[in-house]
Amino acid sequence: MRFYPRLFQPLRAGPLTLKNRIVMGSMHTRLEAAPDGSTRAAAFYAERARGGAALIITGGYSPDAAGLLEADAGALDHPDKLAEHRLVTDAVHAAGSLICLQILHAGRYAKHDGLVGASDIPSPINRRKPRALSTAEVQQTVERYAACAALAREAGYDGVEIMGSEGYLISQFIALRTNQRGDQYGGTLENRLRFPLEIVRATRARVGADFLILFRMSALDLVEGGLNAEETLQQARALEAAGVDVLDTGIGWHEARVPTIAYMVPRAAWRDATARIKSAVSIPVMATNRINTPELAEELLLQGVADLVSLARPFLADAAFALKAEQGRADAINTCVACNQACLDFLFRNKVASCLVNPRACHETLYPSGKAARAKRVAVVGAGAAGLSCAITAFERGHSVTLYEAQGDIGGQLNLARQVPGKEFAETLRYFRARLAKSSVQLKTGHRVGADELARSGYDAVVLASGVRARLPDIPGIDHPKVMRYDEVLSGAKVPGRRVAIIGAGGIGFDLAEFLSEAHGGAGTAEFLAAWGVDPRGMGDGGLVAPKQEASPRAIVLLQRKPTPPGKSLGATTGWAIRMELARRGVPVLSGVSYQRIDEQGLHILHEGQAKLLEVDHVVVCAGQEPVNALRAELAAMGIEAALIGGAERAEEIDALRAMEQGMKLAYAL
Ligand code: NAP
Ligand code: SF4
Repeated sequence: MRFYPRLFQPLRAGPLTLKNRIVMGSMHTRLEAAPDGSTRAAAFYAERARGGAALIITGGYSPDAAGLLEADAGALDHPDKLAEHRLVTDAVHAAGSLICLQILHAGRYAKHDGLVGASDIPSPINRRKPRALSTAEVQQTVERYAACAALAREAGYDGVEIMGSEGYLISQFIALRTNQRGDQYGGTLENRLRFPLEIVRATRARVGADFLILFRMSALDLVEGGLNAEETLQQARALEAAGVDVLDTGIGWHEARVPTIAYMVPRAAWRDATARIKSAVSIPVMATNRINTPELAEELLLQGVADLVSLARPFLADAAFALKAEQGRADAINTCVACNQACLDFLFRNKVASCLVNPRACHETLYPSGKAARAKRVAVVGAGAAGLSCAITAFERGHSVTLYEAQGDIGGQLNLARQVPGKEFAETLRYFRARLAKSSVQLKTGHRVGADELARSGYDAVVLASGVRARLPDIPGIDHPKVMRYDEVLSGAKVPGRRVAIIGAGGIGFDLAEFLSEAHGGAGTAEFLAAWGVDPRGMGDGGLVAPKQEASPRAIVLLQRKPTPPGKSLGATTGWAIRMELARRGVPVLSGVSYQRIDEQGLHILHEGQAKLLEVDHVVVCAGQEPVNALRAELAAMGIEAALIGGAERAEEIDALRAMEQGMKLAYAL
């Protein structure tokens, strides 16, 4: 039986034949700035090639110094860089895939002082002001793109992707928002398209007909002063006529105030924008953003939305995505949950990217697959994020593993997180279930293991991943029936009334506010687009219209004691969207609060020097956690040293990211 027949149908793209329709999309990794970066990048990409991607597109490389995204970003602007790229292209070819270099000029998004732009208009997300390129410099930049492509060819790449979306330099030329030039590169749409079209023609002239040219165009700008749908289609037709082989699609500039890839975006939410482009051209078109399962990818191809799918983060989460799909093992795919926590958020913190559900990603050479020198008998206590990660990795390393879980099912806190609208941890649990079922890990659910049993079993190693319990702060009235813990609410054991105060505005406080203020029980694409002010037909300036007001079914107030702006602990690439969403739903967040007492009337607080009463039906406590690890001392008394991971080790700031990473690392250290 053939699984996903359209996805695995070969496709002719320009001069090349792709073995299937799955492309690993461009994803910045920051490996180029890491020690041993090229070797690590070669291992990273080769693993994805072995995992079945037909074509891999690298992270962006600048054609010159001005276009660098940051000072230590990668450029391909000199032959002395060819050797490091050949390491990557050779490794990918040996593993059976094709690879293209993405050429990205950051323009006014560059985080260094030599930044340039179409005009000297700064971006709202960069405090530096760009210098407008002169006409001669624009023409020189065109030549540098072409020279970069020629070097890519020499380095063994099968083609290039010209990055023309997301608000980088090419977008900045195309949109009136950022282009106020008076020369032949500014003014009419025809003039504003001159820069990308000259780049395509100059590139084709340098690389010849047998080299793939992809162009990533903006299918929706999502900023004022961006293109509308008709102008976008004109652009697509002009790019095809100029010699582009494949049109990739990008959604939204980085400065757009609409989330485009994070978990709150419904899967394949942007399909209509891609389908519009496909209907306007005859070259293959690639769909991107929030496509994370083979079922969905197949559906998009069958419905004629696109000819190819680009998966970037899903290949961080699972290098073998394509192979597993082809073999009918989709249930074993480690699905990207669109959290951004270890990929984009790490890049914002100048760290090498990785993946929350696959902490080996971009660290393949540091954690090579293979067996440990000596197989051990290992007990893992607790089947939450840390314990699951540790148990499965330890099994893969050749150890004999018993996994104990006191609850009737695996998952721990992931079972709560999966209740938050958009959070896809149900997929993570499905993945772990499938892996456990195919492994020889002995899973003992509903089994609260004690120190005596562990001691009797004579394990070589005991790992405590016994998790956390919710902290109940010392506030008068904390035992009042009005009070509920976040775990009771998220699990559905208790349902708060219409008026709710939330104590604690950390990650879980915000999650809970989203959970309680969500009107539809999970927004579909139409509701999502309406709430964020996106015209489904792509008309209007940049595809934007006035956002539709959302009403929360509850009156909610979120509280914290710190005087600092709330939401500081949220992820850099998702926190702003969560805050905007709650503001739109009318959920206030108060800082600098002191809790006085909870009684029949509600929650009494001191705020801005005044005593206030919040007349609420319920108070939900999200005030952090405490570790659950009493077994450690009991085992120590018997002379058994247990390793602690996850929240059992340290409850402060514990999240799935740290838990899974610690679990994997400990399994390698056994
Ligand atoms: P948290 O982020 O540490 O927040 C707990 C909040 O409770 C703090 O903001 C603290 O703020 C308050 N608090 C602490 N002790 C208190 C006390 N005795 N009385 C009253 N308030 C108290 O913990 P969390 O919200 O439980 O989240 C756990 C972890 O998961 C965190 O690392 C979090 O970042 C992560 N997480 C992340 C996301 C995400 O979106 N990325 C989502 C969920 C969870 P004040 O002391 O200022 O009031
Ligand atoms: Fe996907 Fe989250 Fe992994 Fe990024 S960190 S690839 S968003 S699962």
